[in-house]
Amino acid sequence: MAGILFLISAPSGSGKSTLVSELRKQLSGVDFAISWTTRAPRGSEENGREYYFTTRDEFEQMVKQDKFLEHAEVFGNLYGTARQSLEEARSAGHDLLLDIDVQGAAQVRAKMPEAVSIFVLPPNPKVLRTRLRNRSRAEGVVNESELYRRLSEASKEIENFRQYGYILVNDILDRAVAQLEAIVLAERFYRNGEAIAYRSRRVLEVAAACMQSNTQERLKPVLEAFGILGDSSQQELNFEDETDEPEEESDDD
Ligand code: ADP
Ligand code: 5GP
Repeated sequence: MAGILFLISAPSGSGKSTLVSELRKQLSGVDFAISWTTRAPRGSEENGREYYFTTRDEFEQMVKQDKFLEHAEVFGNLYGTARQSLEEARSAGHDLLLDIDVQGAAQVRAKMPEAVSIFVLPPNPKVLRTRLRNRSRAEGVVNESELYRRLSEASKEIENFRQYGYILVNDILDRAVAQLEAIVLAERFYRNGEAIAYRSRRVLEVAAACMQSNTQERLKPVLEAFGILGDSSQQELNFEDETDEPEEESDDD
């Protein structure tokens, strides 16, 4: 493949779709693989834009026909990346970005170890809950059990962060978008020798700071808040007890 394959995973509601859509406004040459799913469309989602929405029968038929590069069951629905997305990006010479869960990312990594993987974290459970709830409200449907299911899976998904080359904490949106853009540009520079002009040094620094091995200090409070390091987080993980507050963004530096 001429282009680079980027895998991006995150607990639901962390802001990965928002980051990907902002990135694609800033950078050309990055295609987004539209996944197939058996989940029902949410809010303003359209078939062929966010996802190809399908039935379980049709999805299973596609599995038998080996149409998927990877597929997995997430929150009770099937999701998969069509091999065709990869072929199209390859023939266009574009990079390809897959928004996939931790199981799908593991499957792709096993087949394509050269893929660049990025894990996005919300700053803490409370912010995650607020984002999920605000999104549901904006879509006009607040399904408490679905919300709770997604929140309770978050810590388990985050436990996989070590399998990812880069880590982003999506606190301030503009900064996270700039970090994602820096990762893509830095990888183009390292792999393809693509020039990144006068911004190059800064871009390489920003990307390097997001490499997993360089994020330990920044990650510590996030992991603690999700109960992954130590046990100081148990109170914060009690999502249900808190009243909703507008999300306050804070600098995590
Ligand atoms: P995901 O794709 O990871 O499930 P979304 O991109 O749908 O998450 O984001 C969930 C919600 O959080 C959306 O309402 C989005 O507008 C909001 N959001 C995303 N990133 C930020 C951020 N950095 N600050 C505040 N809100 C955000
Ligand atoms: P949502 O229902 O919120 O759109 O997505 C739920 C989860 O499914 C997210 O973690 C998202 O990354 C994941 N997902 C979306 N598309 C795919 C896919 O093609 N394959 C896999 N394995 N996961 C996907």
